Amino acid sequence: MALACTLPRWAWAALQSAAADDPFALGVASGDPAPDGMVLWTRLLLPAAAAAATVQWEIAHDAAFRRIAQRGQAVADAALAHSVHVEAAGLEPDRWYFYRFMHGGAVSAVGRTRTAPAPGALPARLRLAYASCQRWEHGYYAAWRHLVDDAPDLVAFLGDYIYGYAAPPQPGGLPRTHPLRHARTLADYRDRYALHKSDPDLQAAHRACPWIVTWDDHEVENDYAGGTGRQGATDAFVRQRTAAWQAFYERMPLRASTLARGLGGLGAAGGVQLYRSIGWGRLAQVHLLDDRQFRAVQACREPGASTAAAVQPGACAALADPARSLLGAAQEAWLDAALARDAAGDGPHWSVIAQQTLFSPRRYPSGVVSTDNWDGYPAARERLLQSLQHHRPRNTVLLGGDIHQNYVCRVHAAPADPASPVVASEFCGTSITSHSGTTQQKVDAVARHNPHVLLADCDHRGYGLCDVTPSRWTTALRVVDDAARPDASIATLARFVVEDGRPGPQAA
Ligand code: FE
Ligand code: CA
Repeated sequence: MALACTLPRWAWAALQSAAADDPFALGVASGDPAPDGMVLWTRLLLPAAAAAATVQWEIAHDAAFRRIAQRGQAVADAALAHSVHVEAAGLEPDRWYFYRFMHGGAVSAVGRTRTAPAPGALPARLRLAYASCQRWEHGYYAAWRHLVDDAPDLVAFLGDYIYGYAAPPQPGGLPRTHPLRHARTLADYRDRYALHKSDPDLQAAHRACPWIVTWDDHEVENDYAGGTGRQGATDAFVRQRTAAWQAFYERMPLRASTLARGLGGLGAAGGVQLYRSIGWGRLAQVHLLDDRQFRAVQACREPGASTAAAVQPGACAALADPARSLLGAAQEAWLDAALARDAAGDGPHWSVIAQQTLFSPRRYPSGVVSTDNWDGYPAARERLLQSLQHHRPRNTVLLGGDIHQNYVCRVHAAPADPASPVVASEFCGTSITSHSGTTQQKVDAVARHNPHVLLADCDHRGYGLCDVTPSRWTTALRVVDDAARPDASIATLARFVVEDGRPGPQAA
């Protein structure tokens, strides 16, 4: 197996002994719930050279699988690392189910999943968790264990499922380490996912409910933009990106239509179809965005610069160039049309824009702005704000990640004018483990400088938990006391509500 070359000896030994009698040692997952079905995922741990294999699957009403709702078989394609993506259909809306896979004499762990409510129904509640950024060596996944206890209906994962960095040269002080090299090839990325998916807490979170996943930069490489990587727009980067995208698809509960256009790559058209909407009856419509694949290169990024730097707006004319987009023209038009649909008479109570990074402005006291988030694409942000004001969906909530800090913001019609009307609410989440790289003192100074920021906290790792009802949205910022400890406890750092028809979070 390719896995054998680079996985840490301990992890490999554990996986191999598990795989000897459990080809399902990397777990199961489900995703993208629809009113009549969802995606069921697993990956068979077989030698990379092994031919395609057949897997049986079952969906039941009960955990003992006495009342089978559906069963079938699927192919674990060798070209896709023996991954399995079953698209179940014909199930009943708004119901929990149990699922499992069989191969030879082996039976997988049992996962719990559910369908979405019927399109016209108005369910009383949706419990939606959002999370991002789980750098392996920065901590343990206690947050995922607590998320299972919080029993969400749906998890939105907003990017940085893996980080492709090489093993830290001096792991001293880090809670855990790995010996993997800087990821470049398909084998590298597959090993990296195997490392993450060997974690029991992460596996349990996937078994708990369906996930809706998107990616950010680290699924490929820090700060990449479209076809531009750390050494510029090179053929080598496009090959690396294609490998990374394939490994992502192989490991995520995504529909086959994600790859309908082909992976693309050097000399080949195509690309991964990741932006999409998930409906929850008339309660919520979640628009998941892809802010990496189609973005313009970060403003004033030097050719060949390995990261996107912060800039002084006055010294970077490209920043204001209206032609620059974070989502690309096609995705911008798709989102505009989706928001127009939401605003129609029978549209959802809550339009959720689940994307990768901080949407609201974050002006530093020094005057610089980041170029890798929406601050780096102000004209694109302006267009989305205009779209919201033009169509006026009933309530809009933005969810984000990437910054490894909790930010709660009022989203104003004019980002630079705190006296302009509030048009939406933003909850940008902290990381599961990844370090923030800043101090609370600095973050406090930023918050003082940005009056639309209601809470900014860099000291805590965790996830957000949203209880959504027709009349009220409540977000609890769930934080672990120490991500360096596998037995970390959980607490609520703060709670905010958004009332129906009244944009802007209020401290609860
Ligand atoms: Fe991150
Ligand atoms: Ca990121």
